[in-house]
Amino acid sequence: MNVTAARIALRERFDWIALDFVNTTVLTRSGRVDALADMTEFFSWMERATPPGWQEVRPEGVPDRRTLHVEAVRLRVAVDRLLEASADRRAVEESTIHALARAIGWARTSRDLEVGASGVISVTTRYKAVHPAAALAPIVDNAIRLVTSVDTSRLRRCQADACLRWFVDTSKGGRRAWCSMATCGNRAKATRYRARHELGGGAA
Ligand SMILES: [Zn+2]
Repeated sequence: MNVTAARIALRERFDWIALDFVNTTVLTRSGRVDALADMTEFFSWMERATPPGWQEVRPEGVPDRRTLHVEAVRLRVAVDRLLEASADRRAVEESTIHALARAIGWARTSRDLEVGASGVISVTTRYKAVHPAAALAPIVDNAIRLVTSVDTSRLRRCQADACLRWFVDTSKGGRRAWCSMATCGNRAKATRYRARHELGGGAA
């Protein structure tokens, strides 16, 4: 994957905010491209991804923003380990549980029942920060819901070269190999096509 392809790849979404979050890094020929690499990039990623409660718990001051950034990079490792253990159907390590348990307490939630003008009833969840990195709590919540609600044999890491991203295979046959057809799937097909031609096969 070249750097431009990596930038495009990092804008892709995976239905679960926890997957969007853990998938914020890809490998390229010129090294790793990481949407959490620095604070500015990380904040623009958060603005785009808007995890639940982001508007309410977004830290304003630089020290708090720095704390959030540092904790986000740490949490990404923990979420990755949680997915790995779940996909392998083994117990999650103690240190990973600890990291997730810490972060989930950083935001308090309350719920309100609301009736809209047309009489439609809905539940609104409100978030209150009790830590500068409160924005990560809903991501942990989402990660736990993911591993406890999907068939974990369908939770996989992309098979494309240099792609570390996770996805849930929702295809009928359950044999999807790539996180995204638009990027990795097409790339893998193009590579296979080239390989066939270089071998003199020529068959399409
Ligand atoms: Zn991929």
